[in-house]
Formats: sequence, C-alpha cells, structure tokens
Amino acid sequence: MNSQTYRFKVGSFQCIAVSDGTHTYAPPIFPPPAVFLFANAAKEPLERVLGEHNLQREQWAEWVSPYICLVINTGEHRVLVDTGAGGLGPNTGKLLQNLKTEGIEPEGIDTVILTHGHPDHIGGNTDSEGRLVFPKARYVMWKDEWDFWNSEQAAVRLEEHAREVLLGYARKNLPPIQNQLYLVDRETEILPGIKAIAAPGHTMGHMALAVSSEGQQLLCVSDTVLHPIHLERPEWYAVVDLAPQQVEATRRRILTWAATENALVVAFHFPFPGLGHVVQRAEAWQWQPIETTS
Ligand SMILES: [Zn+2]
Repeated sequence: MNSQTYRFKVGSFQCIAVSDGTHTYAPPIFPPPAVFLFANAAKEPLERVLGEHNLQREQWAEWVSPYICLVINTGEHRVLVDTGAGGLGPNTGKLLQNLKTEGIEPEGIDTVILTHGHPDHIGGNTDSEGRLVFPKARYVMWKDEWDFWNSEQAAVRLEEHAREVLLGYARKNLPPIQNQLYLVDRETEILPGIKAIAAPGHTMGHMALAVSSEGQQLLCVSDTVLHPIHLERPEWYAVVDLAPQQVEATRRRILTWAATENALVVAFHFPFPGLGHVVQRAEAWQWQPIETTS
C-alpha cells in the first residue's frame, strides 16, 4: 500500500491527497496532546470522550500528526492546496518527492492555495535558498490572513513558545510570493469549481474550500478541525487556535454544510488520506473515514 499519495475523483476533477510527512507534538515544546488539542475541555467529559476513542489522558504522550496536501487537476488547472512544512521536522518536507512519484513537477502547478499562514501549510513555498518552489503558480490566500502575518499584530498575538518559529516561517515563505499573489476577501470562486469559504478561528483568515464538479462535492476543511474528536465536541479548541472565540461557530457552520450535502471531506491533520464524511449525531457530528483498499 502506498500511504504517501491517494487518488480520488470529484466529478471530473482528478484529485490526489499527498502526504508531506508527519510531525510529532509532545512536551517539552508543546503541551501533552489532550491539552494541546482540547485546551478548554473539562476533565470529566474529556476523559469520557477520550475513552470512547481508546485514549487515556495520562498515557497519551505525543500526537503524531499527518500533514496532507491536496492536488486538484480540474482539466484546465493544476492546483495545489498548501505546501507542507518544508524542513520543520525530521519527517516533514516530503511533498515534492511524493508529487514526483505521481508525475507532477513543481513547474506544472499553476495555482497554489494557502489555507492559512502556519508553518505546516506554507513551509514548502520556498527552498533552503529562499527560491519559490512553485515558480509559475499564482498564490491565493485570504486577505485577513496575509495582513495578519505581515503586521505587527502577529508578534503580539502569538504565544511566546511558538512565536519565533511561526514568525520565522512567515517571514521566509510569504514575502517571496507577493508578486504573484491573489488575495480573497469574500466567499468567491478562486477557479471554476473551487470556492473560498471563510473559516476564521484557527487563524484570523483561515480558509476552507468547497470543490464541486458534476454535482459532486469535496469540502477541504484544512485546520477547522485538527482531530476527529473536534467533530464531537466543536466547542473544544486547540492551544494553537489563534481566535478561539470563533472556532465553534465556524466548525458548526462548516460541519452542518458537510453533513447536509453529504460532501466528501478532507482534513489536513487527520489519519492519511484524511478523507471521510461528516455524520450528524445529536447536537454534534462524527467522523466517518472512507474505506481505503489500495
Ligand atoms: Zn496545520
């Protein structure tokens, strides 16, 4: 089984979930996973929900998160959603080699959509010399997100322990795209069949994508949810969510849409290939991963 790329179709669009690798979140750099992912959860309900997922708060020592980028070939355009983390950790930065195994060269990508400005989503914009990795692409980002990372506000709002890494990545990977940048400030089609959806909360200008072709729907939620438990408890935000007061409303809006439309959903940090459906359950939802046989 090839666990680095996974091909699927949305109508006539040929899509590939492409792994950039994995990254481990653990103390001492990050809080333990149950705190990192569910920062405001009360002890008792948290332990109950974790138990339903065969997890124990005290024993859950590290969160090994997949990083999953997405290629969409619409027939007319070759689109990449997020560029991965580059050299953030020992197991990241595998996007390019995995694209190559699918016969995709960086020059062939004409549109790069960046869902937000975190290191794991923009870290593959530039190589070690600061050159653009996808030189021919138009880069698309939500305007509030671009403004945030290019303002003084970023240094003030970021948690101290992560500030240098986050700002370092933004300073290295955002300025080089500015001459081929297209900023979105409303829910509009970026390309035919690919629509920007406002999803603030994880960051100020975090963006989801609604992809549709021939009546089929794919919702790219990016970091609206980081773990399947966030579907069950949409009010539990993560330590890294920069606008936590907006997290729950955004999740409820996007998950309601996904469940009602029975859309295929792709989530950047979920177990590879990150694809599944959102099923309504009482006042919340549940993640139902697709069956992968290949
Ligand atoms: Zn992320």
